[in-house]
Amino acid sequence: MRTKLTPKDIIDNSKRIVIKIGTNSIIDVEHWVIKREWLRKSIESYIALNREFGIVSSGAIGMARVELDGQRPQSIEDRQAFAALGQPILFDIYKREFARAGTSRVAQVLFTKHDLTTEPGFSTTQNTLAALRRLKTTYIANENDTVANDEIKVGDNDNLGALTAIADNADTLILITDVNGLYTANPKNNPDAEHIQIVDALTPEIMALGGGTNGDHGTGGMKTKLDAAFLAASRGINTIIVNGEKPDCLTRLFDGEFDHATFIPHTAHPTIAFK
Ligand code: GLU
Repeated sequence: MRTKLTPKDIIDNSKRIVIKIGTNSIIDVEHWVIKREWLRKSIESYIALNREFGIVSSGAIGMARVELDGQRPQSIEDRQAFAALGQPILFDIYKREFARAGTSRVAQVLFTKHDLTTEPGFSTTQNTLAALRRLKTTYIANENDTVANDEIKVGDNDNLGALTAIADNADTLILITDVNGLYTANPKNNPDAEHIQIVDALTPEIMALGGGTNGDHGTGGMKTKLDAAFLAASRGINTIIVNGEKPDCLTRLFDGEFDHATFIPHTAHPTIAFK
């Protein structure tokens, strides 16, 4: 019989972690203000885990909206231009906050889907990430939205996080979000929704809990997270979906509190779990 692992066991046993941060975590999207304090404390807590980690951060387009007083992109070209405007702002904020936390060695990495899913792009990416590791440099990655049009995009940073975790040979992917992980129904409009702490297998029934839409609200945003967990599990990588409202969420997880997270062990992939 398989003994159940906890998120603490997983983080304990993870040498390398990829942490995906969504736009809503880093930007107050109602007022278009950057959550500086949140980012500062989050970075401190990631460093305190004492693990190798890389970050996949959304927020390029969001940062442009902050810069442009909330203005909304109207076309694909606008979105690409917003990403070009916002990405350096996003990276600059990370660089400053890492410097405050004692390290200025951060690198910006921008991928396209092609880089992560075909050769020689995948091997080149793997080698670059390994070389950054040797330089003791933490990468802040994002999709290269400025040049990636809809047909060639990964499209969401949950799946981009999974692809990065695969390329970086990570043990665990952590998806920071605004709900306590997975529920049996959308907790925002269903009081009977039950929180699922550990997923034993990514069955079709569990995958269906993701709903059908993207976006970072309710179970809708779970679809891409479960897809990312499935992809990660297929390569032996664990996924933790965690509520990042409190910036010390990973420390709390590490300390054994996991009512604010859902943990999907890599064996949750049916083909792996029942082999
Ligand atoms: N790459 C997009 C950005 O930085 C975000 C994509 C996503 O949030 O999934 O704005």
